[in-house]
Amino acid sequence: MSAVAKLAATPDYYSALKSRTPDVEARYRKLTPRSQEAFARAARVFPGGYTRDAIIRGPHPTFVERASGATMYDLDGRALTDFWFNATSLALGHAHPAVIEAIAAQLPRGTAYFAPTQNEIELAETVLPRLPGAARIRFANSGSEAVMMAVRFARAYRATKQHAASTIVKFEGSYHGSYDDVAWSVSPKVADAGANDAPRPVAETAGLAGTEGRVAVLPFNDVAALRRYVEARHAEIAAILVEPMANRLGLVMPETKFLAEARALCDRFDVVLVFDEVISFRVGYSGVQGVVGLRPDLTTLGKIIGGGFAVGAVAGRADILDLSAPERGGRVTHAGTFNANPITSIAGRVTMETLTPAAFAQMNALGDYARARLAEVTRGLPLQVTGAGSLFKVTATDRAIRDYRDAATTDKAWEATCSLALLNEGFVLTPTMSGCISYITTREHVDALVSAFQALAGA
Ligand code: PMP
Repeated sequence: MSAVAKLAATPDYYSALKSRTPDVEARYRKLTPRSQEAFARAARVFPGGYTRDAIIRGPHPTFVERASGATMYDLDGRALTDFWFNATSLALGHAHPAVIEAIAAQLPRGTAYFAPTQNEIELAETVLPRLPGAARIRFANSGSEAVMMAVRFARAYRATKQHAASTIVKFEGSYHGSYDDVAWSVSPKVADAGANDAPRPVAETAGLAGTEGRVAVLPFNDVAALRRYVEARHAEIAAILVEPMANRLGLVMPETKFLAEARALCDRFDVVLVFDEVISFRVGYSGVQGVVGLRPDLTTLGKIIGGGFAVGAVAGRADILDLSAPERGGRVTHAGTFNANPITSIAGRVTMETLTPAAFAQMNALGDYARARLAEVTRGLPLQVTGAGSLFKVTATDRAIRDYRDAATTDKAWEATCSLALLNEGFVLTPTMSGCISYITTREHVDALVSAFQALAGA
């Protein structure tokens, strides 16, 4: 029996690495004394030391001082190869010269005005043509705000058809940002979450007002459950909100027939189909909707379209977005002090102009390469490599992932230790072992990551 086959046959493959967690953490502490100090200081002003949940990582996060290209430098002067680029948002990498030059020219001219600029039109004009179903766009400051606005637009649109339709259908395991009405069943305990095909909505956070008339949770990828629910309840439904690539399930693409069924049901009952492409817009020139050839009614965007600055947007059908045109009675309101500020608009425009179809082809080819190499070194182990385009993930389960219940079999503790051990070696992935390629990522970066991973994961 080969070493690999032997490891795979061991029932507690994951324990081998997990039993080393104390050593991995001790080494991390030793490598990052200045981050530890900064974290102690942070804990005096931030609850538990954090002001952003996604970066929570034990024993403490790595504080970054500066970054350039694919490299971040931490307070202890370590050079870290970045494979997460501020949650996938920096498609050109850190401090890309074209972006820096453009915003440096703008900075002395002012950073935000109580007035529009032509920069925001230019950003809109580089984004909208990529979304064939979208004729209008409005900018906000985060993906969460974009989702919040899409929900409001969808409810307002349905109200114009005289339906008391306010429920947003979302899917178990999907994360759509901080807004209350979507903070349900993102990562529920399976024991609390009801039947597989009829999940119970579980609050993701304290402080929510309830689901009644606001949100319903259905299983991801389940065509029959979706059809059953929408056929029975369409008069109450404002929107189907779906990630066309499910990030928290492991960067998993849904079956095309699932998205096609959502499209067909929305057409049939005039329900608004919202694709949340806040992350997945980096999967291709026209996002995942371009890959699968489906047009949602609204698309929520964020991350890459801000070129490294805070951004969100909702784009879509003119008859829905125009509900916020000023001359309308009973209109959808949408304000925001920093919406479409010139810095975000310029950085976003330069970034999107750089992201030509050829640039996507380059990033996605390297994404294919990364997934193939990782698959090679995990063969025979109870690990799987998922992702699409420039996104990849190593998931600690051997169960094929179609929905949240499959993803919930993942050994998260193994992933967290593996990720921390990689950080000790100088590679930044999420604590769930998600990674991404940016335009400046090279094959050498990927090869170095794969070697470090191979040494750790025992393949
Ligand atoms: N939707 C999706 C699919 C996301 O992945 C995220 C953030 N990761 C959001 C919405 C929220 O975006 P933001 O963090 O900019 O508020």
